[in-house]
Amino acid sequence: MQINKIMVVGAGQMGSGIAQVAAQAGIKVVLNDIKQEFVSRGLNRIESNLEKDVAKGRKTSEEKAAILANLIPSLALEDAADCDVVIEAAMENLEVKRNIFQKLDQICPAHTILATNTSSLPITELASVTKRPEKVIGMHFMNPVPVMKLVEIIRGLETDDEVYTLIEKMTLQFGKDPVEVNDAPGFVSNRVLMPMINEAVFCLYEGVGKPEAIDKVMKLGMNHPMGPLALADLIGLDTCLSIMEVLYEGFKDSKYRPCPLLRQYVKAGRLGVKSGRGFYSYNK
Ligand code: NAD
Repeated sequence: MQINKIMVVGAGQMGSGIAQVAAQAGIKVVLNDIKQEFVSRGLNRIESNLEKDVAKGRKTSEEKAAILANLIPSLALEDAADCDVVIEAAMENLEVKRNIFQKLDQICPAHTILATNTSSLPITELASVTKRPEKVIGMHFMNPVPVMKLVEIIRGLETDDEVYTLIEKMTLQFGKDPVEVNDAPGFVSNRVLMPMINEAVFCLYEGVGKPEAIDKVMKLGMNHPMGPLALADLIGLDTCLSIMEVLYEGFKDSKYRPCPLLRQYVKAGRLGVKSGRGFYSYNK
């Protein structure tokens, strides 16, 4: 099957990045969100990324224009009716994603593959709300998408080998490096990463160290490119909390309990970089 046109659902930090790398690969991309302002924000983010590439001599103005011409704004899931693949990158909430998958299953032709960029939610459960579980798969991109090479490709219980191979090929076409994993809470990446971030939040909560000290230990001591609290701010504290809850629910093991401070920050609207304040402050 030739992949000519895809839809990305959700034009936030991940969705806009996924749309950018797909458009750069020469694929037509419908970028969908629930409000015009969110679609416009996603498109503006892509344009400003490309502008930086042009300024640094990594792309020509003609290449930038050709990439932008591959992007089609959308406010209706019905626009997926002629897409070969849909990559869902809406918020990390099972009900929201189940609803989107049910609708897409009705809208899309039989050959369309339904992928999700979920960080932790079960692929098999999302697949079960559709009549095409063999065509449902996880594509877990890393943040920021235009920069990070890895895509964790997650097989649900019913995912076809042929679907896996097609998605692996498309990932390579995006200029990314795929890795195959099976469906389990948090997959590999967030099962390992998120408990570390949560433990760093506990260190802050219990007064073991200030944010700068905790991050410095992990940067200089463990050679991490950024500290766990700065990384949590980049990911979004709401997303981090959702992932910890999926791990806690999925394994019923107290070692995955979310730190109360993480919960409190999310309730206060301190979501990290995207809201201007998390463990650190960011000037908008
Ligand atoms: P975000 O908050 O930046 O963007 C989410 C977007 O989805 C928003 O623009 C929102 O309006 C839109 N949306 C919500 N409901 C929708 C619907 N019904 N239809 C269409 N659009 C809808 O969040 P994000 O960080 O881009 O995360 C998106 C997904 O990617 C989540 O599942 C998250 O777990 C996953 N993810 C995030 C990261 C990260 O570092 N932030 C990394 C990998 C995967």
